[in-house]
Amino acid sequence: MKKTAQKMVVANWKMHGNLKQNQTLLEAYIRTLDNLPHTQVVVCAPYPYLAQLQSLLADTDIAWGAQNIAKMERGAYTGEVSAEMLRDFGSTHVIIGHSERSTAYCESDENIAQKFMVAKKHGLTPILCVGETLIEREAGMQENVVAKQLDTIIRMYGAQVFADAVISYEPIWAIGTGLAATPAQATEMHKFIHDKIAVLDEAAAKRLKILYGGSVNPQNALQLMVVKNCDGGLIGRCSLNAQEFEQICMAAERVSQSDE
Ligand code: PEP
Repeated sequence: MKKTAQKMVVANWKMHGNLKQNQTLLEAYIRTLDNLPHTQVVVCAPYPYLAQLQSLLADTDIAWGAQNIAKMERGAYTGEVSAEMLRDFGSTHVIIGHSERSTAYCESDENIAQKFMVAKKHGLTPILCVGETLIEREAGMQENVVAKQLDTIIRMYGAQVFADAVISYEPIWAIGTGLAATPAQATEMHKFIHDKIAVLDEAAAKRLKILYGGSVNPQNALQLMVVKNCDGGLIGRCSLNAQEFEQICMAAERVSQSDE
C-alpha cells in the first residue's frame, strides 16, 4: 500500500467473475497498474475470491478488499463475514453502504454506520457510499439526503472518524446507467461533503478521500478526476474490462501528477 498516493481508484467487481476470468483480469491490472506513483488502485471482489487476490496481488502495489462486512465482530451470525476475516486475507479496504445493497436489503443508516466503525476498529479503510435517487435530485434534495447519511455516522461516532476514511459520492441514478454526473454536479456535491466534515473537524477532512462513482468510463474519467475535492473514482462496469479500467486509472494518475 502506498502512503503518498493522492488519487485512489477502486474497482467494484460486484457479483462478477470466476477464478479463470479473475486471473486474466488481475494479470492485466498488474501489467499496467502496479507501481503507479500517484494513484492507489484497490480491487473489491466477492468474498470467495479474496484468497485469489491475496495470492496474486501480495507482491504488488495494488490493494484489495470486499464489498460488504458484518456490523458485528463475531458470533452466531450465519452467512455473515467479519472485519477480522477480511484482514485474514490481507484486505485493507471495504465498501460500505453501496446502494445496490442498502436498497435490496433495506440497510439503515445506523447499520451502515456500525459497519463503518467496525471496519475502522479492525484497521480496514471503509469506503462509504452516499448519494441520492433521481427523484431526490429532481426535487433538489441531494444535499439533504447526503447530509442525513453522513449525520448518522457523525452523531454516533463523531466527525473525527472520517480521518483516513473514504467517502464515495455515488448518485444512484448514475450507477450502471451510462449517465454519469456532470462535472458541475460532482463539483457541487464534493464541495458539500468536504465542507460538511471540515467545519466539524478540519484535520479529519484533510485526511479524508472523496471519490466519485457512477458510470465513470475512459471518455469521462479525466473531466471527473479534475473536479475540485475529487480524490478518485469507484468504478463498476469498466473495472471488468482491463483496458478501460487502465485508461481510467491513467486519467487519475495524470491528474494527480499534475497536482504535485
Ligand atoms: C458502482 O459499482 O458503484 C458503480 C459506480 O458502478 P458503475 O461504474 O457501473 O456505474
